[in-house]
Amino acid sequence: MRLINSTNYDGRTIRGIITSVFRRYEKLEHKGFYDLDMLRAYVVYRRTAENLPFWTVTGEAFLKGHYIKLFLDKSYVDVRTLAYVIEHELEHCFGYQHRKMAKITSARWENGYRSNYDWAAEDYGEMLNPRKPRTAGSPVLSLQERRYQRLCEREKKWVPKYNRAKNALAKIREKKRYYEKQMAAKGKGK
Ligand SMILES: [Zn+2]
Repeated sequence: MRLINSTNYDGRTIRGIITSVFRRYEKLEHKGFYDLDMLRAYVVYRRTAENLPFWTVTGEAFLKGHYIKLFLDKSYVDVRTLAYVIEHELEHCFGYQHRKMAKITSARWENGYRSNYDWAAEDYGEMLNPRKPRTAGSPVLSLQERRYQRLCEREKKWVPKYNRAKNALAKIREKKRYYEKQMAAKGKGK
């Protein structure tokens, strides 16, 4: 799946919800009934001018396609609603039109079965969190600097192992020398 997220909401969470919705759906269908890798999921802000309740999430999709687009409120996204809309849009991708769908997800929601999406709130929280802003103190590192930093971390991890090995070998050799001396002394005594 390619997630094209132009909002400040955490893309990993949105990707996680899409994947979870799909995995749950896959159990109702069969493995390989749809190729999620092919999906392009766009996430954008909903236009504030639209006269919708603030919690609304809307979406669009291509019928039997690999495209969905989610329109999110700038300040509030209810995770259950988001999971429901993702499911709805994915169903379009799977080839369902509203008539057939009504039996499945839409009906669930309209009948008040919000609890069908409790799993999403449990796994991802009640509300979608905005991406964590970069803290002022941490500088932006270049790829080279990040790689160098990772090497330093790896080095730090290996140093104690190296020291332990050195100490263990030193002890073993010391004991060996002790026995070697004893054995040599016995040899002389004979
Ligand atoms: Zn629809």
